[in-house]
Amino acid sequence: MSIRWKVIIPYVLLTFVVAVIGLYVITHLVAVRQEERLRNQLLEAGRIFSTQFTLQERRQLQTARLIAYTVGVADALQAGDRASLEKLVRPQVATHKLKQVFLIDLQGQEQLHLFQKDKDTLELMGDMGMGKAQWLSSLLITNSELARRVLAINPQDNKYYLYSALTVMLNQNVVGVVVVGTPVDSLLQSLKMVSLADVVFYDTQGRVILSTLPPESEIEGTEANDYASLQSAFGLDQIALNEILQSPELVLGENVFIDGRGYSIARGVLQIGREPIGVFGVILPLDFVIAFAAESRNFYSWIFIFIVLGVFLVGYFVSHPMIVSLHKFLVASQVVAAGDLSHRTHIRTNDELGVLSQTFDEMLSSLQARTAELQKAHKILEQMDRTKATFIEVAAHELRTPLTLVKGYTQMLALKFKDEPETVALAQGILEGAERMQEIVSSMLDVSRIDSNILKIVPEEVNLGVVIGRAYKTFQDALKERNLTLTIQGVDGLPLIQADPDQLYKVFYHLLMNAIKYTPDGGRITIHGHLVEGEGGRGEVEIIVSDTGIGIEPEHHQLIFEKFYQTGEVYMHSSGKTKFKGGGPGLGLAIARGIIQAHAGHIWVESPGHDEARCPGSQFFVRLPLRAEFHERDTSSVP
Ligand code: ADP
Repeated sequence: MSIRWKVIIPYVLLTFVVAVIGLYVITHLVAVRQEERLRNQLLEAGRIFSTQFTLQERRQLQTARLIAYTVGVADALQAGDRASLEKLVRPQVATHKLKQVFLIDLQGQEQLHLFQKDKDTLELMGDMGMGKAQWLSSLLITNSELARRVLAINPQDNKYYLYSALTVMLNQNVVGVVVVGTPVDSLLQSLKMVSLADVVFYDTQGRVILSTLPPESEIEGTEANDYASLQSAFGLDQIALNEILQSPELVLGENVFIDGRGYSIARGVLQIGREPIGVFGVILPLDFVIAFAAESRNFYSWIFIFIVLGVFLVGYFVSHPMIVSLHKFLVASQVVAAGDLSHRTHIRTNDELGVLSQTFDEMLSSLQARTAELQKAHKILEQMDRTKATFIEVAAHELRTPLTLVKGYTQMLALKFKDEPETVALAQGILEGAERMQEIVSSMLDVSRIDSNILKIVPEEVNLGVVIGRAYKTFQDALKERNLTLTIQGVDGLPLIQADPDQLYKVFYHLLMNAIKYTPDGGRITIHGHLVEGEGGRGEVEIIVSDTGIGIEPEHHQLIFEKFYQTGEVYMHSSGKTKFKGGGPGLGLAIARGIIQAHAGHIWVESPGHDEARCPGSQFFVRLPLRAEFHERDTSSVP
């Protein structure tokens, strides 16, 4: 995963998670606060309602008192003077806009009954039998000023009224009762305006008797004042009723749902003086809580969306330049790795990345300069190497001709003086030296051709047994002279391979010569051949030349295949080419490796180390493919 995604994915996830949690917490808090507000509002409405109701009732009683104390009213009531009573009371009723007023004498007779039919008509009504009402009887038999209130149905209009009754006194004696009545529904409407909540009235049995919520009749067309549905929704059972009646505070009810609309209700005792006349409930719709919660959720959702977008944008603007710089850096390093040292990051920001990139660019500049220097030096060295190879080539050619002449003349000299043994021996010495020189010159030529990649390979079907046999024959005398045993195993059974027999002869010539040179007298040399499976399953022959000689240190195993590389002190070498530790120009293994590589084979050495006393021995491995592909080589300069 790229750094861009490693940064973006956790950042986006984290922002999202924080936003969702934040949104949840805030909307939850808002909802809780909203419910709390509703509860407080409900309790407040209940308190207002309760106070206002008491106030209204007190006002009503006050008016009743005004009537009772109006001069002449008590006398007229005692005298049963209905005309005077009407004359005295009517203006009071009109002034205070009273709905219904009774003046009842001690016998329970209604001496006056005024009823406001509509706004402007105050009618004198006949006896309605109010004086016979149970709740009034206690007032009629008392002998002091006493008041009573009650919620009762007015048969006049079949509505619930709040009645306040007060004894009318004359000379310390009760002469009758004044009763003032106000319809509860209009009272409720005005209380609704003040308390800003719908109201429901219960009688002392917990039945719904009135409500500012529309009665069922208005919903479904049933009979007027039928509160059946409100009763089933807001009705009270005995336990709930008792709880409310005993509680000095408002009691919060369960939320109620009617036709999908939610309502919250709080109930309290409707109490005047010490007597409970019923129970009231204040009702607030939950709509606005739900709507507010939804609204606030939407509102906060938008706020969070904007915040999240803001966080994303800030994150983008902060991380983008870094990611771009990193990307540039990556591209630059890839281009440089591919070999273009002239590329630069060109990131010049004022942070660690900028410093890193600048250092990288500076490193590249110095690397480019060094590489240019090295390339220049390499070219010079290549040129020098070519000059050296040409020199060796020319020198070897020039040396071969005089050497052939020396050899020819020496042989002629030996023939001419064949009867003089001393001269023949001298001629033989000159001949051996010339041959040795010829060999060295030939080796130098081989190395020069290998270096210049112009070694000529003439492939044919080769029997390795024959090639190795040829090499053995070359050193037969030397082996005998040095008392060395040579064993050749398995090479005759090997299949024919595609190779140049003369070049392979040189390989085994050098390997065998080295084995003889670096094995003390009386030692053993083994040449072992077998078939092996090489790279990619191709068939290969493996020839191992082992000796019981002085061995080679592991750190020299690679280096001895380089031309002119010799281990130990060169001047310690003896001069004979097959003598123990005999001298050599250090070209044998370089030639062997060049020839084997030209045949697409491998050559390597294994030896536990160098020890001239214990002679751990060495093993030279040669691997050659059965069928090698020989490429066309440039042989133009080969003589
Ligand atoms: P040289 O002309 O010195 O033999 P070579 O290239 O043939 O050059 O060998 C390089 C060096 O490898 C030798 O100088 C010798 O130290 C070491 N070497 C090669 N063959 C053997 C061997 N069979 N045992 C021990 N050392 C060897």
